[in-house]
Amino acid sequence: MAGRDEKLQAIYEEVLSRNPGETEFHQAVHEVLDSLGPVIAKHPTYAEAGILQRMCEPERQIIFRVPWMDDRGQVQINRGFRVEFNSALGPYKGGLRFHPSVYLGIVKFLGFEQIFKNSLTGLPIGGGKGGSDFDPKGRSDAEVMRFCQSFMTELYRHIGEYTDVPAGDIGVGGREIGYMFGQYKRITNRYESGVLTGKGIAWGGSQVRTEATGYGTVFFVESMLKTKGEGFEGKKVAVSGSGNVAIYAIEKVQQLGGKVIACSDSSGFVVDEQGIDLDLLKLVKEVQRGRLADYVKARGASAKLHSKGSIWAVPCDIALPCATQNELNAADAKSLIANGCQIVAEGANMPTTPDGVKLLTDAGVGFAPGKAANAGGVATSALEMQQNASRDSWGFEFTEQRLATIMRSIHDRCLTTADEYGKPGDYALGANIAGFTQVADAMLAFGLV
Ligand code: NDP
Repeated sequence: MAGRDEKLQAIYEEVLSRNPGETEFHQAVHEVLDSLGPVIAKHPTYAEAGILQRMCEPERQIIFRVPWMDDRGQVQINRGFRVEFNSALGPYKGGLRFHPSVYLGIVKFLGFEQIFKNSLTGLPIGGGKGGSDFDPKGRSDAEVMRFCQSFMTELYRHIGEYTDVPAGDIGVGGREIGYMFGQYKRITNRYESGVLTGKGIAWGGSQVRTEATGYGTVFFVESMLKTKGEGFEGKKVAVSGSGNVAIYAIEKVQQLGGKVIACSDSSGFVVDEQGIDLDLLKLVKEVQRGRLADYVKARGASAKLHSKGSIWAVPCDIALPCATQNELNAADAKSLIANGCQIVAEGANMPTTPDGVKLLTDAGVGFAPGKAANAGGVATSALEMQQNASRDSWGFEFTEQRLATIMRSIHDRCLTTADEYGKPGDYALGANIAGFTQVADAMLAFGLV
């Protein structure tokens, strides 16, 4: 960014000095600011009103103690976070992550990305994110319940359907949302369905929410392929992760005629040349809460587990990183390019390192950034809020159609904006500028608040 735009560089330096040590947050801010030079040049009012500085400073940050007792009767202490980043377009909206790596810098990077992602959906939701350094791995259901109840005992006072509406993320799925909603309902004595999304279908959840992030990413890629007159038929796809986003990305790729030949978890990756057996993967991951090693054991000869090396060295036409941040680096990008990969679409948040993105885009690989490609999850959360507000529930097909339409429209908005700013095909630039301008215009209208 240095030398390109002094104003933006000064803002970035201020972010670095005000938020020391928060490297993932710095990375996310840098990536967005790097795209905004032409917008600031075209609309000086944004700079005059300090819109960028305000956007980089969360409206509110909450950090709290989460005490709970494990099954052996020992006291455990974790740290809880909720960063309410920007409410220009609607109530703060964004997931909760439970993972030992969670600290303020991770929550702020995710919350910052969420502002632009939520804007791109075209739905009235602001940006926020939260979570805890609690590690659910190896914990019993009873321990997870006690943790979730303690977490919500503090969080409840900060959230509400018109204020802040959390959902799931890494380590937070239907089970955790259930425990948290139960505790919220008990403390407040209100059946306020719209306070959390990702709920079970029987108690205010939406059809397709579980599938939405993975499906949405694949719908986005479908639109990218369509611009080249192609489809998924016959394409080899590698998907990292084997959690919520990865599983439903695999499902939709298979439904559209593609073949997923590899997936991963934090212990390694599996290559299955006959195509991943999705029913088996769901059984191992969603029902048994097992590991990929259990999948390989049950699958037999066609699947091989690799505990060393990178999933991105597996030759594929399309790569969908769906695990976690910075999991696809420059070396991985080089392998993908060497093996003829055509598209990288981020199901996870910021899974590609900046040098990885540069290599891919310089080599002409279609690159879809997470804030556009994985926006289907939060978009369907907003549809869940709509259903809760009108005390309605929609069918699967209807909801999936709405998701598909939203993803197509995000895709087209990214492309149109990239064209408008003289960078045809640059999805990352298009996503940043389109996401930014809508939030910036609302902030201008509100005055200095
Ligand atoms: P899950 O917890 O369901 O799954 C995460 C998967 O990624 C697991 O397979 C996990 O493996 C793997 N993983 C996590 N950390 C690492 C790591 N450090 N190295 C390698 N693998 C890792 O989470 P989700 O599927 O919900 O989320 C995945 C990504 O998608 C995240 O970046 C999240 O922010 C993003 N996202 C999620 C949305 C949602 O609706 N859920 C919406 C939009 C984005 P293991 O089990 O071994 O830990």
